[in-house]
Amino acid sequence: MPKMSVKKGDKVQVISGKDKGKQGTVLRALPQEGKVVVEGVAIVKKAQRPTQQNQQGGIVQKEAAIDVSNVMLVCPSCGKPTRVGHEHDDNGDPVRVCKKCGARF
Ligand SMILES: [Zn+2]
Repeated sequence: MPKMSVKKGDKVQVISGKDKGKQGTVLRALPQEGKVVVEGVAIVKKAQRPTQQNQQGGIVQKEAAIDVSNVMLVCPSCGKPTRVGHEHDDNGDPVRVCKKCGARF
């Protein structure tokens, strides 16, 4: 299983595909599939049947899961898309390290 360096709530930038350059927050991480769902990225339109709540039915827009290799974490410290290193803090807990500015998060 590939190691996921991106977690729910992270800000990421898309680095390939039609949404290249877009930034968004990770809504869901799917480590089993190596995919993430990113707010506002890979929007797919789905037709929805009328329901009790929505009598009209219609088209709903929804983010599709994209391969985690297509996104890069945006460092919360320096604000740049970056590769992350994995280290352990003084308590032995895993932390991620920005390869650009060295910030731990
Ligand atoms: Zn940084």
